[in-house]
Amino acid sequence: MKKIVITGGPCAGKTSALAHVREQLARVGIPTFIVPEAATDLILDGIAPWTCPSVLDFQTRVVALQLERENAIEQLADAIMQSTAKTVAGENGVSDHLRDPVIVCDRGICDCHAYLTDEEYSKALAENGLDEVSALGRYDAVFHLESVAKDNPNAYTRQNNVARFEDADEAAKANGRGIRAWAPHLAFHVIGNYPTFEEKVGALYASIEDEMDAWKTATEETGAQNQDSCTKREPVLVSACLLGTACRYDGASMPCPAVIELADTLDLVPICPEQLGGLPTPRTPSEIQPDGRVTDRAGEDRTAAFASGADETLHIAREHGCRIGILKSRSPSCGVRRIYDGTFSGKLVPGQGVTASLLADAGITLLDETDFAAN
Ligand code: SF4
Repeated sequence: MKKIVITGGPCAGKTSALAHVREQLARVGIPTFIVPEAATDLILDGIAPWTCPSVLDFQTRVVALQLERENAIEQLADAIMQSTAKTVAGENGVSDHLRDPVIVCDRGICDCHAYLTDEEYSKALAENGLDEVSALGRYDAVFHLESVAKDNPNAYTRQNNVARFEDADEAAKANGRGIRAWAPHLAFHVIGNYPTFEEKVGALYASIEDEMDAWKTATEETGAQNQDSCTKREPVLVSACLLGTACRYDGASMPCPAVIELADTLDLVPICPEQLGGLPTPRTPSEIQPDGRVTDRAGEDRTAAFASGADETLHIAREHGCRIGILKSRSPSCGVRRIYDGTFSGKLVPGQGVTASLLADAGITLLDETDFAAN
């Protein structure tokens, strides 16, 4: 029996998406069992981060309830499937045409890592007899729906969920922390925001179908599931300056401890697009102009070097199989959400650096170091 997690940032459309997935699976004859979200139910019962002695205390209870529900539903599903198999075998003499069931969890245990420090997360798991590897290993695949707050803060709302307490800014950060929490899982999928919700849900179901095809192939080829695959380390592209490399325009670095710590669980792939594009260190700072060219403060056109560095970075990302990048905010190469406006006056505008834009177009999910600042 396979168990998947559908999770996501606040206001990602998870509840509607889950109903859609259940309907689609039923349509193709796959028995589906849903494990309801533990955190929301606790909050609706008055047990919330703000009523508990600490966030750790609340999240430890979330893990306990989630675990209890998953175990109960697994047992129930098993009993139902055995009873159905007996009935079918009694009628037809065979039972092997029954489709394998899927348990769909509305969030999973590792989601609590998004609200805890690494040390607190280990404590919450240990209280419930788990560690990081066994928590990840409970699930066969994980699908994270991105919060609308990440790409369209104006569309973010708290009105359709009384248990949602974050504002748009915090929701975007929680979205990033959720991705970080699940990224070590090999079968981890990030579903971005699309022009319509139907497209987003379509992308989610297509990813689930891909996983189901992979399970089928693996079962056919080996006759068994690969139990260790979920603990393989995920390769993640990272701006080298965040890891302490002195590659910035002024010859300095911008080490971010929260990003450096990720090396404990992820394979970090450092890149500096401006150096890869052939620019020296130190160098005159550059900014993207309103017409798309990149010029440095002395007025020299650096567009070709920035484009070349972006191409080289994408090549490295593909060679390593990176699906996620953590880049330096506000850089004309690496900036993910905002960049300087081209006047060298310190004014920020919405936009992406040259490399970030190319990586995003190639389908790589991008975060910056500010997504980890609160953790
Ligand atoms: S190009 Fe990116 S990695 Fe290199 S120094 Fe600038 S922000 Fe850091």
